[in-house]
Amino acid sequence: MSDHVNLFEMAIRQFQNAASDMGLDRMVRTILSEPQNEIIVNFPVQMDDGKYRLFKGYRIQHNNANGPYKGGVRFHETVNLDEVKALAAWMTWKSALVGIPFGGSKGGVNINPRSFSNEELCRVTRRFTYALGNNIGPELDIPAPDMGTGSREMVWMMDTFMTTFSASDRLSTRRVVTGKSVLNGGSLGRDKATGQGLVFCFQTWAEKRGISITGLPFMIQGYGNVGSHAARILQDAGAKLIAVNDHTGSVQDTAGIDAHELARHTARSGGVAGYGSARACSYEEFLTTEADVFVPAALQCTINEDTAPLLKIKHIVEGANGPTTLKAEKLLAERGVEIIPDILANSGGVTVSYFEWIQNKNSETWDLEQVDRKLLRLMRKATNAVIEEGEQRKCTLRRAALTLALGRLQQVYKERGIFP
Ligand code: NAD
Repeated sequence: MSDHVNLFEMAIRQFQNAASDMGLDRMVRTILSEPQNEIIVNFPVQMDDGKYRLFKGYRIQHNNANGPYKGGVRFHETVNLDEVKALAAWMTWKSALVGIPFGGSKGGVNINPRSFSNEELCRVTRRFTYALGNNIGPELDIPAPDMGTGSREMVWMMDTFMTTFSASDRLSTRRVVTGKSVLNGGSLGRDKATGQGLVFCFQTWAEKRGISITGLPFMIQGYGNVGSHAARILQDAGAKLIAVNDHTGSVQDTAGIDAHELARHTARSGGVAGYGSARACSYEEFLTTEADVFVPAALQCTINEDTAPLLKIKHIVEGANGPTTLKAEKLLAERGVEIIPDILANSGGVTVSYFEWIQNKNSETWDLEQVDRKLLRLMRKATNAVIEEGEQRKCTLRRAALTLALGRLQQVYKERGIFP
């Protein structure tokens, strides 16, 4: 990657550009340009060999003007302070854009989860949760899954947090995390929510642009929670998956890759490598695949100065957070590639997390049809609003999405003021 990017600088440049465009109030601009709280914990964990190792974990609480801080927990070896700060800011914009009563936060532990046993991961998760202590809470800051974590980690977090309360208060703290397994208070539809929301958003956008999804060739980077669900749902909607890349390699087949079969393969083997029903290819071959749509759903900044010129695609739907650098975005805009931005396209995850939180709060269980219907309504509303804003301002969808989110936050601060 030649454009070495500090992710927080990238997030703040996006923010400042939109703020200048819309003439965002100076006070609001100052407040939103840094997180409210930055929590760093160093915590010891006993390894399977009996030795102790020290881990560094982060929880960045960017803003809570609209409701409790809300954001995922990432387990990845690249996790660092600026990365988590950027991801937390994007959560604030995302919640404000979709109109759910949450703020933005993010957490992470600098760890490669593949290098540890399940027992070690359990202890890391529990010790991290314990180290965060009452910095998280069901009305304060609500973690969820992100890269390297899933419902298993969320249930460990929930269980650890709950046990620090007296027996009578325990159950009411269950909604301290979302993305839990259904048996442990999770919502139906949360596992696929980010991919499902991405497809609802894409379908709404495609309708507006007069693009038919039937037979539309698409490629995906990252075949984990977001990528594999998005691929399967897009395929079920009629589109054709033709190339996939993940940390283990790339596969390509212009005749079509069965997204469901590939998901079963990755669940068994840990990655797309070795998938026999498609041709293994190099990363460069993957990037130069001729497809209409590219869904990045892995790490940030994978679409950068080096990779953007290779892409032969027409549209990008950002499943990952921050996949496109500013330089790449400029290059792609010059070529007429339209980007449906992360804070809109991947907001289905936080939206269904909000549904889970409400269900826990009210001791309710919604069926899948109800979850999907409510998600569809919010995704359509947000997508239509972003497209309209983009048309009015004659700007990119990213700028339009940011402008809408920041406008709402500005209104909240205007009505509330700052005290004391
Ligand atoms: P995941 O851990 O389930 O899957 C990550 C995928 O990325 C895996 O397929 C992995 O192989 C791939 N990957 C990792 N390193 C890679 C590399 N160097 N090159 C190519 N592929 C690589 O994670 P996820 O939850 O699907 O998250 C993916 C992205 O979506 C992240 O940017 C995350 O912040 C974002 N996101 C996730 C959610 C959610 O609900 N899980 C919600 C919104 C946004």
